[in-house]
Amino acid sequence: MIVDSDRTAPVNALQLSVRGIVQGVGFRPFVYRLAQRYALTGQVSNNGEGVAIVVGGAPEALQAFVVALEADAPPVARITRIDVRPADEDAGDAAWQPFRILPSRQGMRPSTQIAPDIALCTDCLREILDSKNRRYRYPFTNCTNCGPRFSIVEHIPYDRPNTSMRRFVMCEDCRREYEDPLDRRFHAQPNACPVCGPQLSWHDRDGQPVAGDGLELAAAALAAGQVVAIKGLGGFHLAVDACADEAVATLRQRKNRPAKPLAIMVGNLETAARFARIDDGEAALLTSPEHPIVLVARRDGNGLARGIAPGIGPIGLMLAYTPLHALLFVQSATPEALVMTSGNRSDEPICIGNAEALQRLRGLADGFLLHDRDIVTRVDDSVARVLDGRVRLLRRARGYSPVPIPLRRPTADILACGAEMKSSFCIVRNNEAYISQHIGELTGVENFDFFRESVDHLEAVLEVSPERVACDQHPDYLSSRYAHGRVGLCQEVQHHHAHIGAVLAEMGLDGPVLGIVLDGAGYGHDGTVFGGEIYRADRNSYTRLARLSHLLLPGGDRAAEQPWRMALSLLFQSIGAGVLAEQTQPSSLLAIDPTHKQLVGQMMVKGLHCPKTSSCGRLFDAVSALLGLCLFSDYEGQAAMLLEQQASLVGDDSNFPAYPVTLTSEDGLRVIDSAPLGKLVCADLASSVARPVIARRFHRWLVDALQAVIEELRLRTGITEVILSGGCMQNKLLLETLAGQLRAHGSTVHAGALVPMNDGGIALGQAYIGGHVCA
Ligand code: ZN
Ligand code: ZN
Ligand code: FE
Repeated sequence: MIVDSDRTAPVNALQLSVRGIVQGVGFRPFVYRLAQRYALTGQVSNNGEGVAIVVGGAPEALQAFVVALEADAPPVARITRIDVRPADEDAGDAAWQPFRILPSRQGMRPSTQIAPDIALCTDCLREILDSKNRRYRYPFTNCTNCGPRFSIVEHIPYDRPNTSMRRFVMCEDCRREYEDPLDRRFHAQPNACPVCGPQLSWHDRDGQPVAGDGLELAAAALAAGQVVAIKGLGGFHLAVDACADEAVATLRQRKNRPAKPLAIMVGNLETAARFARIDDGEAALLTSPEHPIVLVARRDGNGLARGIAPGIGPIGLMLAYTPLHALLFVQSATPEALVMTSGNRSDEPICIGNAEALQRLRGLADGFLLHDRDIVTRVDDSVARVLDGRVRLLRRARGYSPVPIPLRRPTADILACGAEMKSSFCIVRNNEAYISQHIGELTGVENFDFFRESVDHLEAVLEVSPERVACDQHPDYLSSRYAHGRVGLCQEVQHHHAHIGAVLAEMGLDGPVLGIVLDGAGYGHDGTVFGGEIYRADRNSYTRLARLSHLLLPGGDRAAEQPWRMALSLLFQSIGAGVLAEQTQPSSLLAIDPTHKQLVGQMMVKGLHCPKTSSCGRLFDAVSALLGLCLFSDYEGQAAMLLEQQASLVGDDSNFPAYPVTLTSEDGLRVIDSAPLGKLVCADLASSVARPVIARRFHRWLVDALQAVIEELRLRTGITEVILSGGCMQNKLLLETLAGQLRAHGSTVHAGALVPMNDGGIALGQAYIGGHVCA
């Protein structure tokens, strides 16, 4: 926080301006109470920058007030700056009136800092469980320290008439709380109670309302193994009993999602600890105001259904984060753990409207737990994992959107449109980067609509429409097309430069750095698909210095969905046309139709429909398929995750050597030669080396190779700062061993934390590079 004060002599009236997330979080009441505490006069109001304060009183009291302003700020507030100066003449009068809170003025340019949606606080939880409290069992309880924010805001400023709470008129009791500066609900915009607020309702599978207690009916349905659609904070979930094999299988079959890991929700930390091994850092993250899904190690024999996350070690776990969830879990019938997966058909955006849900989720859900508070903005659950000693967001959405990332280097106002997978966009205003909530794969019409709506909404909320635009170089991404269709200057940013730029932006670095980017696919300027590259980069420019050797992508994009093709491709790189002979193939590929294999082999021999790639993701696919872990991929990253899981089964890897590293040179680039891997892996398979050992040898090979190249480049360039980025870096084993090895050899290592390492972070990098203001 910056405290900027030009006060030189004792004064008895001050003017303060507080910036950050200070609206809609109980900040004015907090200031009011603080003024009472120190017997100060004056006023507090919201303005376009944040909160403006005028105070008069004894100099010591004023001093204490300024200190407490930051030290005791409400839990949800995020102060980025406080300016303090002596009150000018206009404000002087106000400084001596009994302290009051001024209402937000219509037409005033409001602060754009809308708070994210915050998980139920402990005070509110206590009230809804207290049979004597008037909010007993009321699922829409909230206060200034918790509850919906971003997901219900239509316009700014964040006042009730500008939210979807507008249609609920507060009852006398609620109004009294709302107007009482000493109440926890003073100016809590979504304040409500059973008398005046939103109500639950239960609907059968055809959408017909059913009389009765919604919570009880939902709990009974879940206990019976049914799939229940639950309207949450930023969208619908589909829920089933997470310990019931059959229920989970039904959900998977209806959603047409055979293998993608499902997140689970439990009522509290104690229950969570029965299903997973949770360390202190993970516990803090689970119970933080953001309440993200946290990837944690599952406990053996935990009773969870087999189908929760097939083949994958960690499970995605979150705690109940709305009063509705909390109340559901105290129903005696409710299962201990619920699968909570986004309420959509695969690859479509999450449902938010009641009518929309009843229509789109028809056939998926056996019952609907609805309510009549509208969700204005879709916000999925965020996903985080503790990796290499830090909390890393893998999906940035609920609880984090739209908190801006402050940029420490001047950046022009700009809209950056992101990439295609795990897409998000980013708007920079006043050197603050607002990264949109996770949008999803930007391929179908529905997600593209969601993307455009979200751009419009965030532009409206921020009151900007930047003339500068940045996008990926890939001409066919919908995000690129959208960017080119906008008026104004459009800058194309290379995919991996953007991956590196995101980390530069988050860490406030200028570079030059060495950037290792490992991902699935980045548009290459030479007609190949990039994805395993090392660059020298700064904010302005990048030079590619090294890469993984090329593999063929038989059939282009289909190769990414069918890892068995990559297995053949890696073998082809190793032994050439010999790959066509069945006996050279490992038994893992016996499951593939020989005619398909012949076809793919011929494509490679003839060089037809076989673009070249240096993608690390595809190399993981190849090894994973050779081991028979994943021949067809059900979701992005599946083959790599299964391979990581196998490698993680090896406790001590000092008993066997890593595969040897070969570095070559081509066109002035250092090349890590992956071709020998095909033979090496097959030889290990032939001599019955355990799959976890092979998987581990491969991981070590990759780390050793990258380390060797960085060592060379460090000597050549003198650069010791290394950035790790790209979706493959979400691999805990890879990231942690690579970072550890680089540090041991004298590098300083950076990787995204608040900004995803996968393509969800691309937009920030594009904005930082595209918005660079030449000094
Ligand atoms: Zn609360
Ligand atoms: Zn009320
Ligand atoms: Fe990428």
